[in-house]
Amino acid sequence: MPRKGLRDLEPSELEGRRVLIRVDYNVPLNEDGSVGDVTRVEATIPTLRYVMDHGGRPVLLSHLGRPKSQVVPSLSLAPVALVLAELLGAPARFVTSTDSSEALDAIENLPRGEVLLLENTRFLPGETNNDLDLAARFARLGDLFVNDAFGSTHRAHASVVGVTEFLRPAVAGFLVQKELEALNTLRGAGRRPFVVILGGAKIGDKIGLLETFLESADVVLIGGAMANTFLAASGASTGLSLVEEDAVPTARRFLDTGADKLRLPSDLIVALPDAADATAADVVAASSVPADLAALDIGPDTRTAFGAIVRDAATVFWNGPMGVFERHGFDAGTVEVARAVADCTAGGGFTVIGGGDSASAIRQAGLSDAVSHVSTGGGASLEYLAKGTLPGIEALDSA
Ligand code: ADP
Ligand code: MG
Repeated sequence: MPRKGLRDLEPSELEGRRVLIRVDYNVPLNEDGSVGDVTRVEATIPTLRYVMDHGGRPVLLSHLGRPKSQVVPSLSLAPVALVLAELLGAPARFVTSTDSSEALDAIENLPRGEVLLLENTRFLPGETNNDLDLAARFARLGDLFVNDAFGSTHRAHASVVGVTEFLRPAVAGFLVQKELEALNTLRGAGRRPFVVILGGAKIGDKIGLLETFLESADVVLIGGAMANTFLAASGASTGLSLVEEDAVPTARRFLDTGADKLRLPSDLIVALPDAADATAADVVAASSVPADLAALDIGPDTRTAFGAIVRDAATVFWNGPMGVFERHGFDAGTVEVARAVADCTAGGGFTVIGGGDSASAIRQAGLSDAVSHVSTGGGASLEYLAKGTLPGIEALDSA
């Protein structure tokens, strides 16, 4: 069922109101504690601007990392407030607590034209188990609730779901709406051919997705470590490649039922498992990885074949890199897929990238702006594609 969005609110519902906005500022931090990637902060700016332009006073809640219900100073959101002020072009205040009288005072004194970011919600016991006492305390921080934390919307946590028990209206922000729109297009499978590219490390986490796409897609390309598990299931020798043993029976089942749609690599780049670069790398047939080596990328023939299929697609979803792209020399498969997705987009295709590592791979290739949509939520986008709903969406007002 469609949910209410920011634009569905009356002007009087925003003017002068304290707007409690759940954002997902779970950003990577550099060693010196500064923010390593501002994408997730940038993605919330349209929502914040809209609220401020309509006289609302934004009070922001977010988590960062996994502090396990205690204060971990290295996971403070303080550095994020600096980045936020810069991107917003307006003062961003920060207080080092969340559901406190200090926070309530800061909200009371928040001038028009400024935003307030509160401390990491996961410092508090009760956040991750959706404790309703904590949710009620969160609800006291605002007059209405906006969920713009797409990357956290698959979590039934107190600041995402519980808070809506006590605070209405509860509506979707622009980022959440934009993400759902892109993913809904894929759920409807869009224009054909619909090509899905799956890679990365964990099949276990992505089984639901595979099931969904073996139904809706025309072709499913498999690369990365996921391909190793499929190759193992098909009886290939995989040497020291990363194989998810528990998932081999599942992979075998998919090979049986989805053979007409699945495409596995025909060749692979192999090296010592911990090889720092590709100087010692070799290309082998996908069926025969030497016993003492590991497959770390798809090979040149696979690169060409996958690239051609993607360039001919009308709709593309990509999750999971084709190899260990973080290591120098093992990124060629991932880079070629990124280029092919960009070319497909330039030719009028609709293309979506999901997954944290895939998003950073496309950024690394400098092609983030050359695709239709890069999701800010890894787990959330996968769960939405598989199930068609998310706990944090269900919790919002119906339109
Ligand atoms: P995403 O975050 O996009 O969903 P995943 O987290 O599932 O992607 O997988 C990304 C990780 O998979 C990367 O760290 C990458 O190094 C790893 N990976 C990809 N291919 C291989 C491979 N052949 N062997 C080992 N690791 C791989
Ligand atoms: Mg990942």
